Amino acid sequence: MTEIKKILVANRGEIAMRILRTAREMNIATVAIFSEADRNAPHVRYADEAVCVGPAPSSESYLNTKKILEVCHHLNVDAIHPGYGFLSENAEFARKVEEANLIFIGPSPEAIEIMGSKLAAKQAASHYNIPMVPGTASAIEDREEAKRVASEIGYPILIKASAGGGGKGMRIVEKETEFDEQMDRAVSEAISSFGDGAVFIEKYITSPKHIEIQILGDQHGNIIHLFERECSIQRRHQKVVEEAPSISITPAIREDMGRCAIDVARSCGYYGAGTVEFILDENKNFYFLEMNTRLQVEHPVTELITGIDLVKQMIFIAEGKPLAFKQEELHLKGHSIEVRVYAEDPANNFLPDVGTLRRYIRPQGNGVRVDDGFEEGMEIPIYYDPMLAKLITYGQNREEAIQKMIRAIEEYHISGVQTTLSFCHFVMQHEEFTSGRFDTNFANRFFHPEYLNFTQNETEKELAAMISAYLMRQKTPHNAGQTEVQTHSISKWKTQRLSRH
Ligand code: ADP
Repeated sequence: MTEIKKILVANRGEIAMRILRTAREMNIATVAIFSEADRNAPHVRYADEAVCVGPAPSSESYLNTKKILEVCHHLNVDAIHPGYGFLSENAEFARKVEEANLIFIGPSPEAIEIMGSKLAAKQAASHYNIPMVPGTASAIEDREEAKRVASEIGYPILIKASAGGGGKGMRIVEKETEFDEQMDRAVSEAISSFGDGAVFIEKYITSPKHIEIQILGDQHGNIIHLFERECSIQRRHQKVVEEAPSISITPAIREDMGRCAIDVARSCGYYGAGTVEFILDENKNFYFLEMNTRLQVEHPVTELITGIDLVKQMIFIAEGKPLAFKQEELHLKGHSIEVRVYAEDPANNFLPDVGTLRRYIRPQGNGVRVDDGFEEGMEIPIYYDPMLAKLITYGQNREEAIQKMIRAIEEYHISGVQTTLSFCHFVMQHEEFTSGRFDTNFANRFFHPEYLNFTQNETEKELAAMISAYLMRQKTPHNAGQTEVQTHSISKWKTQRLSRH
């Protein structure tokens, strides 16, 4: 066992802050890295030491392996936490870290390699009794053969890039006549985006739910699961709202899915924190999709329902410690929801928005957690992922978590950029969401930009507040000695509630 005394966090934004905080709680010294665009970012100030690793583009800074390893040597770092994105699922980087006698806080390079390829992952998992989406088990080489498989499993089908990720590299084929055209596009997209043209076919599940299992494995062969997260509210095949537990599964399905997730992890000798993703069809059959070999964006909802700090566990595992708890000792308690606050415009097809955070006031109070990496006055750089923050609530049950989320969104004041908060507010109140019927098509099916007609800008809001306060005073001219009642801004959120119910 090696005690980690100093960690370098090879990331930025909210996840860098998230990791630095746990390291501080564990009395581990910290080093932050930053690009020239992030000089004033909170993670730079929070860490004990911080080093600029290059210009704004990530290829020259956050992905600059050589420079990052140099920093580790100069500052006597023991271990690197990669967060998510950037170098987190780069097997070559993990290998270089080990070769440099440093600890990579994550799985082995071999496990990253296997699970980084959707086809290799399916191949590894096929040695266990794990349900897979019907489709081809290897890269398509013979088109006629692939068409035969497609008509056998039945259209619509999905063509997927084996190296795909982040919701990219997928094409739906509705009928055979579209097959060739979509295939050509899928292959050229796979080559241009991932440098690997291998594609395969999967049956397209028309009304799917995305459910994933959090797992933890140590370096002694112990693997446990920390229940599921439901991540079906997506836009462009990417998650925006996540929750734990899922309203859609029974305890029996949870147990079965948990066992499958542990087997998937076992199939690649996994250790560290990881996530095994499944898709659930209308008849509640589930199928293995892929495994993500890193800390997931939505990990806080699992932390809240289990009381376990996942980053702390990752550090213990990297030190070689055995897991401190057994499966039977884990119990889920309460309900947690996370919404991702992206600098995107929901009224404009969720296109990324850039600008300066003119006003930035976080919600507070019982059951509210905000993981963010920005402050008022900061520019949102165009170079990186447009996620500003994650807003997470915890309640005794789902209804309470939803109510807290609605309240917290209403308290969150962000101006200068458009964000996904208004969309998430819409989701929280939609009957399809509250009833639990929703699937991954929710945004396409139920959301229209006109539902956001309440989005006033800050100036309009302030003006509305002044007018309303003025009118109040006019109405009660002889109120000396009476209790003063103030009516604040005509809330943009209430406008929406009124118009919808
Ligand atoms: P990525 O690695 O890009 O995240 P995934 O395989 O995890 O790709 O899939 C991302 C999302 O795409 C899923 O959450 C789901 O919404 C959709 N999806 C993937 N496979 C299927 C399928 N066979 N049928 C229907 N939807 C799918």
